[in-house]
Amino acid sequence: MAGLAAALVQTSNASEASPNGRPGSYLLRVPPSSGPAGPQRWFVSDEPHRFGYGWISGTIGAVLGLAAFCAAACLAWPNVFTTPWLGAHVPTQLPIAIAAAALLAIACAGVSAWLRHKKTLAVLAAGSGLLAAIVLALAPETAPSTSPRRGLGLDVFVLQLLAYSAVFVPIERLWPRRPEQPTFRPEWWTDFAWFVSSALAVQLTTFLVLTPGTALSAWTPPTFMQAIRALPWLVQFAAVVVTADLVQYHVHRLCHRVPWLWRIHSVHHSATAMDWLAGSRLHVLDALLTRASVFAAIALCGFDPPVIGAYLVFVAAQATFVHANVAWRLRWLEPWLVTPRFHHWHHAADAAFVDRNYAVHLPWLDRIFGTWNLPATEWPSAYGLVGSRGAQGFWAQLVLRSEPAAKAK
Ligand SMILES: [Zn+2]
Ligand SMILES: [Zn+2]
Repeated sequence: MAGLAAALVQTSNASEASPNGRPGSYLLRVPPSSGPAGPQRWFVSDEPHRFGYGWISGTIGAVLGLAAFCAAACLAWPNVFTTPWLGAHVPTQLPIAIAAAALLAIACAGVSAWLRHKKTLAVLAAGSGLLAAIVLALAPETAPSTSPRRGLGLDVFVLQLLAYSAVFVPIERLWPRRPEQPTFRPEWWTDFAWFVSSALAVQLTTFLVLTPGTALSAWTPPTFMQAIRALPWLVQFAAVVVTADLVQYHVHRLCHRVPWLWRIHSVHHSATAMDWLAGSRLHVLDALLTRASVFAAIALCGFDPPVIGAYLVFVAAQATFVHANVAWRLRWLEPWLVTPRFHHWHHAADAAFVDRNYAVHLPWLDRIFGTWNLPATEWPSAYGLVGSRGAQGFWAQLVLRSEPAAKAK
């Protein structure tokens, strides 16, 4: 550990408060990771991502195969793997779509295996496509007459996987902020585990998020609710965004200031690379606290449920987009709506930017409350925690394991 100790650059005594006011935090030049470990190393390769090298076919095949396998599992065992919202709306053409996706995945696997030296994507595409066909054969021919009550959200996972990878993977490959950063970067596996787990647990977390707000909404005076719902749809939507981000801003700021909340929220800041998947690294307690607080506020105001539904789609898309590895500057939008560059600075491994840019939607909230900091044109040079790497890996982060202290030999 001598190298680690030598890399320690204390700006003050370690027992003193850090520039960001967090006890025990000090500037540390974190040595570069020694390379990917665990299953993610199977995906890391020096081969190009561009057309003609089997990466595009392999990735499309792997996503389609995985989605087909999960969708087939939802059909075969709906009570275990589907949510009541989606389980009740199974399209009759779904088995044909699954079979087509499985076949396409196997065809893509063939192309990728032919063009690419590293066969992980080809094996994953072919294996998941074959498994999807086998599970589809096991599925009953008719959909169950009753919708499931307590299934895991595998159906939510499939839809999110297809939608996000169809939108964000091409954007990040065509207009990357960091072209050298591969899609299957180091720590990709950790963030994917957070992505999967949040989808699977969606029923439980939705229940916990909605319960306080639903109880509180009984206190809303009926005349106030009627007045709110009489407003035009767009006005209500704008009001939901302002209300939600006001609450989110202060909860987020508390998460940076209160030590035990910071311990939970620091999981999100431990990501050392930004892309659409990095936003999934959010501890379940962090997600519950923020979302339950936001929902309580908008439920208390009595907004129309379809407007709240539209806001949920908007927040899911924007929260993913602001983490993306995309070079879009969006200068005209920057003063009004949070952009990737604004949120990337919130994740910067730079003491000057610690505890800045809390807003998720409206950057002018940071101006009002004195926490706005955005350089004219630059992007951060590094991401992650200032003074620590944080716990490494999904399970260590889930149990909020603290990083072992650096020791000299
Ligand atoms: Zn934060
Ligand atoms: Zn973030």
